[in-house]
Parts: sequence; structure tokens; C-alpha cells
Amino acid sequence: MAPSLHPLIDSGIRKGNPNFSGGTLKCHCTTDPITVTLASNVAHNHACGCSKCWKPAGALFSIVAVVPRDALRVTAHPEKLTIIDPSAVIQRNACNKCGVHLFGRIEKDHPFKGLDFVHVDLSDEQGWQEPQFAAFVSSIIEQGFHPDKMDEVRAKFHEIGLETYDALSPALMDAIATWTAKKEGKLSASL
Ligand SMILES: [Zn+2]
Ligand SMILES: [Zn+2]
Repeated sequence: MAPSLHPLIDSGIRKGNPNFSGGTLKCHCTTDPITVTLASNVAHNHACGCSKCWKPAGALFSIVAVVPRDALRVTAHPEKLTIIDPSAVIQRNACNKCGVHLFGRIEKDHPFKGLDFVHVDLSDEQGWQEPQFAAFVSSIIEQGFHPDKMDEVRAKFHEIGLETYDALSPALMDAIATWTAKKEGKLSASL
């Protein structure tokens, strides 16, 4: 049996709606859930195998995307939010009851500063950008996944049409390297 990657993609990718203009994310609490409203669709949506991104129970991968931080608003129960690791680059704001991560925010100087990381599987709405690729695939081994079964994982991603990378996608790695080169004066800042 093929491994379960994430419930949102296990039976294939459902295309998003390019005209979709946002919606609401909700934590898993049955009473007083935290809600976060996004005033835009997400970008760079992808499956992530790292150990830091929030995953639903039983999933090998997280589904994570970005939105401009100006487009994100906490609309219910902000008092339940707690930052998992205040020293991490991405400050993951999680529910202190159910543990779901509502958004990850960057406060330090960083190529992705200004973008918040979110999980669209916390929304009941349809139309969010579909996952575009799989990142940090080999990292699931660090969390105890058997290395001999990695071929099956990559084959499953390819079957549903997602390329797999062991870091971020080339476009995002290029964006990070470009930011670093500008910062260090190796490339013109006006590029
Ligand atoms: Zn909760
Ligand atoms: Zn991750």
C-alpha cells in the first residue's frame, strides 16, 4: 500500500481557483476555536517533510503555503495562541489547547520576511492554491521514517504530479540565494 502523505493530496491534487480571494483557518478545538482570516489566496503552497511544520495526525508531510502578513488577521480567541519557539526564525503561533499551528511569522531579517506560513487544510473552503511541489522530503527519515521506503514516497508524489526536493524548490532556493547575494553586495540591490 502506498504511504499516506497527507489527507489533502493522498487521492490526487484538486486544482485551486485562481479567482479565490481567501477564507478562514480554524484550529481543531471543538469549543472556542482560534480562527484566522486570510484576505488573499496563498502562494508557494507545497508539501513539507521537515520536523517543524505542523502536520495532521498520521500525515508524513505538512501542507504549507505563504500569505502576505498584512493579509492575515486573527479573528477569534487570540488569547489561546502561543509561540512554540520564540528563538526560531519562523515563529510558529500554535493553539495552546489542540496544538495546531495557525501561522508562522518571521520577525528577523530574512528573505521571506513579510510572509506568514499557513496550512490551508485548516480551512473548510475550496479554491486555495493547490500544492505545487514537495520540499524537504528526505527529512522524514530524521523523524523515524524507514529510508528503504523513500522510493515509494517519491513515486507517490510523482504519481500525483508533484516534483520532490530535499530542500525547497529551485525557484525558492534561488530567491533565498539572491537575497543573500544582495545583502552581501555580490549582486546589485536594484536587481
Ligand atoms: Zn485549538
Ligand atoms: Zn516544513
